[in-house]
Amino acid sequence: MTDRYGRNIRYLRLSLTDRCNLRCRYCMPAEGVALCTHEDVLRYEEIVQIARAALALGIDTFKLTGGEPLVRRDVPALVSALKALPGTRQVTLTTNGLLLGDQLDALVAAGLDAVNVSLDTLDDAQYHALTRRDYPVAGVLDAVRAAARVLPVKINAVLLPETADQWVPLARLAADPGVDVRFIEQMPIGKGEADPAVSADRLLAALRAVWPDLAPCAERRGNGPAHYYRAAALSGRIGCIDAVSHKFCAACNRLRLTCTGMLRPCLCYDDGVDLRTLLRGGAGPDALQAAIEAAIAAKPEAHCFAACHGSEQTMNTIGG
Ligand code: SAM
Ligand code: SF4
Repeated sequence: MTDRYGRNIRYLRLSLTDRCNLRCRYCMPAEGVALCTHEDVLRYEEIVQIARAALALGIDTFKLTGGEPLVRRDVPALVSALKALPGTRQVTLTTNGLLLGDQLDALVAAGLDAVNVSLDTLDDAQYHALTRRDYPVAGVLDAVRAAARVLPVKINAVLLPETADQWVPLARLAADPGVDVRFIEQMPIGKGEADPAVSADRLLAALRAVWPDLAPCAERRGNGPAHYYRAAALSGRIGCIDAVSHKFCAACNRLRLTCTGMLRPCLCYDDGVDLRTLLRGGAGPDALQAAIEAAIAAKPEAHCFAACHGSEQTMNTIGG
């Protein structure tokens, strides 16, 4: 469906939980956040009902996110239910990778199309400081390698001043076939700690010192706002998601569903449409579709990051 600014909305991020086994500094406060109750969270059948209504409006691409989606039980069952809906084009997942190794086979068997793994540094000390937990990076890398043998993999790294020495080692992961590495400018959203912004231009300058032939690729990859570069020595691509320094709202194709059923047209604003109340009040497919259309109609023209830091939402509830 096209919104009032002519954007074709076809991508829905589905947050499965607000819980997480990490506490990344830019995403959540150290003490965590007030968690939703089991009853508050949409059941898988409810998520599938919403996805079916979204498909009728041309939204055919679903990304499972969180919190950490893999802390929720039986994610493969949801993947196969979404893949079985007529018209579904793609179901993908974004994860911190800690539980990916154990669940990979079941996710692939369920039909998962691709996975994004969030990893901001390869240095254990930095990783522990950033995530406020002491898991080893090696476990995440093992999961990335296993996933890359069976699925397209993208590594997502938030650009932070203290990980500047890691940008080149992270980008080198794109030397493995099937792995793209994307760098994301930190967005000043919610209650995570905001660092001074590092721009994608600074990243590109650092990478070009090692790969002088790093050049933009013409082809479009994935469903998102990243723009991509390649160098002869890297078989995968380097992506940049520079929402802060280069607003890309004119090409935004997405909606976000929180784990409690709020459908949010833009990650920057708290407004949304409460689909859970509708569903639990007995709304049928037509009413659900009308509510999704209303969310699309309310999609703002652009984010306004200055307004969203300190908002009540946190990245773990809106799904990144
Ligand atoms: N736990 C999963 C993960 O880390 O991939 C899924 C949820 S997480 C909120 C989704 C993405 O949002 C991650 O790639 C994370 O790095 C990114 N993210 C979280 N807070 C951010 C912020 N303030 N600015 C930019 N990206 C952020
Ligand atoms: Fe958890 Fe992902 Fe947020 Fe990190 S970015 S705290 S892994 S939800």
